[in-house]
Amino acid sequence: MSRARAPRVLIAGGAGFLGSHLCDRYIGMGWDVICVDNFHTGNKNNVRHLLSHPYFELVRHDIVNPYHAEVDLILNFACPASPVHYQSNPIKTMKTSVIGTMNLLGLAKRVGARYGHASTSEVYGDPQEHPQTEAYWGNVNPIGIRSCYDEGKRAAETLCMDYHRMHGIAVRIVRIFNTYGPRMAADDGRVVSNFIVQALKGQDITIYGDGSQTRSFCYVDDLLDGIIALTSQDRVTGPINIGNDKEFTVRELAEKVIHMTGSSSKIIQLPLPQDDPKVRRPNLSLARQHLDFTPQIDLENGLLRTIAYFRDQISDDSSVSRK
Ligand code: NAD
Ligand code: UDP
Repeated sequence: MSRARAPRVLIAGGAGFLGSHLCDRYIGMGWDVICVDNFHTGNKNNVRHLLSHPYFELVRHDIVNPYHAEVDLILNFACPASPVHYQSNPIKTMKTSVIGTMNLLGLAKRVGARYGHASTSEVYGDPQEHPQTEAYWGNVNPIGIRSCYDEGKRAAETLCMDYHRMHGIAVRIVRIFNTYGPRMAADDGRVVSNFIVQALKGQDITIYGDGSQTRSFCYVDDLLDGIIALTSQDRVTGPINIGNDKEFTVRELAEKVIHMTGSSSKIIQLPLPQDDPKVRRPNLSLARQHLDFTPQIDLENGLLRTIAYFRDQISDDSSVSRK
């Protein structure tokens, strides 16, 4: 039996942590999903369960090269998000953010699609305003080791707004604050996955600096609710902060993970990387006002689910690392 044409979304970076959850959500909402990924930090395993779904397609493609498909919505989540990975090839990171974004905005223009962009709290750099509102322009080093990501994302926001103003593209920009959950790669390098994997393996927990720097950790399900609310509505372009506004020091996170895993791991201190932001916490007023967004899952509950995921991953000896 044929079905009426369902709306179609292209999810760039769809085999990554956030992108794969987006694929699940859009398939669940009855959309056709084209997942485009170059598997730099993503993995086919994240979408393996969707491969036989009739409305899901997986395409190995690098967004630095143009791609064409007739779609109604483009969600650009293609970019390594962990400092370890985005710094491993900084020129490629900048190309992905700038050339990749231009390619997908160009596609949006050509086919008349709405375009949703994964921006980041990193556009605020090492912030001098706390918590961060969308009106704050940030404190970013343009020539440091984080700049490929921070400045790439800032340039991408500029491109989004210029395509919006010049060509009338319906753009939605989300500034994502530290989000964690199942399907982060065990070797991703970000703090939540690092601490959980270290704790479960009985390895030292590596705090960079003295651990007094803060982050505000959002569980993936909450973030997706915010993103879908933003991309589904017709009034607000953004940029708009989405995250969780409860703030923790990195040391508090380490202690919580050790306690919740029952691990005997010891905390050690390693040098703080250059330009590591000292504080970060979203002001969520706009998200509350325009999207009725309030995060529901506190750190304890989110960590429980994420620890359970990594426990399974680590105990599954049969899993073959292949991309
Ligand atoms: P991730 O590394 O798991 O996912 C990124 C995905 O993009 C991977 O599947 C990777 O293979 C793919 N990719 C990278 N470069 C590509 C290219 N040139 N062409 C095609 N695919 C490419 O990271 P994530 O946490 O899922 O982040 C997704 C998006 O959200 C990124 O744009 C990131 O900057 C943004 N973001 C995430 C967070 C967070 O806390 N998770 C915070 C702020 C912003
Ligand atoms: N961090 C840490 N140990 C780790 C990984 C990260 O202490 O093993 C710190 C990092 O220096 C930063 C914070 O945790 O202050 C968050 O780092 P992450 O890479 O997750 O994201 P960021 O917010 O820096 O992009």
